[in-house]
Amino acid sequence: MGIENTSENPSGLDSSVKEKCCSISQTEMNGITNRERGRNSDGSISCTNMSSRNCSESSIYCSDFEDGSDTGNSVGPCRRRRTSSCSTYQHYQPLSEKILARIESGEPFFSLEFFPPRTRSGAANLLARLDRMRQGGPLFCDITWHPAGNPGGDSETSSMTIAWASLNYSGLDTMLHMTSAGATVADIDRHLAKAKNMGIRNILALRGDRLEDGNPSDFEYATMLVKHIRKTYGDYFVIGVAGYPAGHPEAPSYDEDLKYLKEKVDAGADFIITQLFFKPEVFFKFVNDCREIGIRVPIIPGVMPIQSYDSLRHIVKLSKLEVPQEIVEIVEPLKHNDEAIRNYGIHQASEMIKAMFQSGVAPGVHFYTLNREVATISIIKQLGLWNCQPQRTLPWKVVPSYRRCQEEIRPIFWSTRPNAYIHRTSHWDDFPNGRWGSSESPAFGDLRDYYLFYLKSKSTKEELLEMWGHSIDSYQDVWDVFYHYLMGLPNKNGVKITKIPWNDEELCPETTVISDRLACLNKRGILTINSQPNVNGVDSTDPIHGWGTQGGYIYKKAYLEFFVSARRMQNLKEILTQYSQINYHIINKNGRFNFTNAYRHCPIAVTWGVFPGREIIQPTVVDPESFLVWKDEAFGLWTEQWAKLYPEGSKSRQIIESIANSYYLVNLVDNDFPKETVLWEVLDKLLSCDDRNHEEECLSTDESLSCSDEVDSQLQRLSV
Ligand SMILES: Cc1cc2nc3c(=O)[nH]c(=O)nc-3n(C[C@H](O)[C@H](O)[C@H](O)COP(=O)(O)OP(=O)(O)OC[C@H]3O[C@@H](n4cnc5c(N)ncnc54)[C@H](O)[C@@H]3O)c2cc1C
Repeated sequence: MGIENTSENPSGLDSSVKEKCCSISQTEMNGITNRERGRNSDGSISCTNMSSRNCSESSIYCSDFEDGSDTGNSVGPCRRRRTSSCSTYQHYQPLSEKILARIESGEPFFSLEFFPPRTRSGAANLLARLDRMRQGGPLFCDITWHPAGNPGGDSETSSMTIAWASLNYSGLDTMLHMTSAGATVADIDRHLAKAKNMGIRNILALRGDRLEDGNPSDFEYATMLVKHIRKTYGDYFVIGVAGYPAGHPEAPSYDEDLKYLKEKVDAGADFIITQLFFKPEVFFKFVNDCREIGIRVPIIPGVMPIQSYDSLRHIVKLSKLEVPQEIVEIVEPLKHNDEAIRNYGIHQASEMIKAMFQSGVAPGVHFYTLNREVATISIIKQLGLWNCQPQRTLPWKVVPSYRRCQEEIRPIFWSTRPNAYIHRTSHWDDFPNGRWGSSESPAFGDLRDYYLFYLKSKSTKEELLEMWGHSIDSYQDVWDVFYHYLMGLPNKNGVKITKIPWNDEELCPETTVISDRLACLNKRGILTINSQPNVNGVDSTDPIHGWGTQGGYIYKKAYLEFFVSARRMQNLKEILTQYSQINYHIINKNGRFNFTNAYRHCPIAVTWGVFPGREIIQPTVVDPESFLVWKDEAFGLWTEQWAKLYPEGSKSRQIIESIANSYYLVNLVDNDFPKETVLWEVLDKLLSCDDRNHEEECLSTDESLSCSDEVDSQLQRLSV
C-alpha cells in the first residue's frame, strides 16, 4: 500500500483489526451505530446495546456520545468532549481496543512517556505532574524501564512502583516498559507476575540495550519476549513494541529491521510506538513500508519536543539519530537561549504532529516528555487535544484499572482526597456494588503505612509554611488558614492559600457555591473539610453539579463535615435533637466517643443520578463504617501534614496537636434535599450559643492549652 492510498484507509489498518474494536461480539455490535458509542472521561469507548442489555458482568455499558465542535483531526484550541457512561454496566476495555476505537472514530489521541526519577522527592513531584497532566485526558501513559536501577523492585523510585502509582493513584491507564537484555526467563516471569498483581495490563516489550559485559539473556530479541508473554499470559497483557522509522542502529539495513519488526508484531504485539524523528515524511515512509510488508497494527509516532540544546544533543547521541540540517541551523544559534529553543521546539513538534494528523496516517501521538510538562502541554493545547472540560463519568475520579471497572460507589469522605482512597482500596478484589454496606466493607489499607503518596502533600515544606504560617500563635491563626483558603484570599504575609491538609487542590466549583457561608463558619472555629450543597434534579450537563449521561438529572443532599471543639460538640448534640431530618455522626480521634443516629450497616445515599433508560445510579454515600476508617486519616492529617512542619515541643506544633487531640469530627446530612437546607440554621444556632455565653473559643494559646485540659476532663464525663 502506497502513501497515496492512505486517504482511503490512512491508518493502514485492515478491517479484521478494526473489527476487534470494543471487544464486543458481532451479535452485540449489531445495530450499534457510531453515535451510540461513547467515550468516557478516561478516553475509553463505551457502547450501547439497549435491546440485549442486562445486568450481568459481561453486559456492556451505555452512553451517549456527542463530540463538541472540535472533532476528528481538527486542530484548534481546546476540546470539550461530551462524554458519559453508566458504570453499572461498565466492563474493562483493554488499551488495544481503546486505540482501535479512537482510530475508528477518527479522533486523535495523545499518550505520555515518563521515566522513574532517582529520588523519593522526585517521585512525589512526578506523581503531582501525572495528576496535572491527567486533566488533559491522555489515552495512556508509559513508564520506562532502566535495568541498572532495579526497575522491578519495591523502592518508591522503581519503574514498577511508579507504574503502579500512575495507574492506582493517579488513575491513568498505564503501560510499563520491560526490557529483556540480561534477563532470564525467571526474571521476566517474576516481573510479569508482579505487574499483573499490581493491576498493570499493558507492557511495552523491549530487548533493551545490550551491555558488553552484561549477563547473557534468555531472550535474544524483543520478539522472544513478546512470544513468551503471549505464551504465558495469553491475551491478559496488551503488548506494545518499538519501531524505528530510521532503522534501528544495530540493524544490518532498514529493510532487515522492518522484517524483524514484522516478526515482532506477528509474535503477538498489539501496536507499535516509534522512536523519535524530526520530519513527518520519515513517519509517512515508515508507515507505508510497514503496510507494504503486511504490518497491520496501529503505529503511533513518538515525538520528543526539543526542550533544550543539551537535552537534544544527549538524546540524539543515545538514540544514534541524525538531526536534519535545517533544524540544526535554527537551533545552533539559539543554543544559549533555553526559552527560544523551547519555543522553537513547541512550534516544530506542533507543526509536525499537525501534518501527521492531517494526513490521517497517525492515529495519535506519543510524547517523550522527559518528565517535563510545559512544552508538552502547550503542544497538546495547540493541537486542540487537551480535554479542558471533560464531562465527568461519575462525581469522583474514575480509575481505568480493570480491577476497578465495577466500582460504582464511594464514601463521600474521600471526595477531596481521591488518590488516598484509591491507594487505600487498591488491594480490593471486589468493590461494593449496589449498596455500600452489602459487601461487608472490605478492609481499607493500613494507615500506619505512611507511604510516599499518602499523607504527604504535593507541596514542599517551605511552600506549606508560607501558606499556613511559619508560626502558629493561637487557635484563631489556625481558623484563619481555613478562612483564607475558602475565600481564596492571601494570608497575612500575602501568600495565597491554595490548599489545606484535607484538600490538596484548589476549591472545586461545587464548594465555591457555598464558600462564603463556609468561610464565616471557619472564621469562628467550625473547621469545615468537606461539603456539598443540596440540588434537586439539575441537568446532568450542569457545569458545576453535572456528571454522567446527557439527558439525566442529578440529586444531592446537603452535606457538611467539620472539626469542632468538645464544648461546641455538646451544644451541637443538643441542637440536633430538634432536627429529625438530619443524620449526624460525631467522633473523636481515638474513636472512644462515637455518636450517630444512623444505622451502622446502612449507608446514606447523598448523591444520585436518574438517566434515561437505566437504573438510578447512586455513586456517593455517607457510610458510618467507613467514617471510622476515614477519621483516622482525617485526624492523622493534622499531625502528619501540619503539626510536623514545626519543631517538636514548639508552641505551633502544640496548638495543632491539641486541636487534633481535642476536637471532634462531625458529619451532617440533611435528608430533606428538595427544601432549602437547615444545616446553616443549625450551625448559626451553634455559634449563637457562644454569643449567648459571651465566650470566645480559646483565642490565645494559653487559653487553648488550658482548653485542652478542660476537654480532657469533659471527655471523662461524656459517654456514647
Ligand atoms: C518507544 C521506545 C521505548 C523504549 N523504551 C525503553 C526503555 O524503557 N528502556 C530501555 O532500556 N530502552 C528503551 N528503548 C530503547 C530500546 O531498548 C533500544 O532501542 C534497544 O536497542 C532495542 O530494543 P528493541 O525492543 O527495539 O529490540 P529488538 O526488536 O529486539 O531489535 C533489536 C535489534 O535486533 C535486530 N533483530 C531483531 N530480531 C532479530 C533477529 N531475529 N535476528 C537478527 N536481528 C534481529 C533488530 O533489527 C534491531 O537492530 C525504547 C525504544 C523505543 C523506540
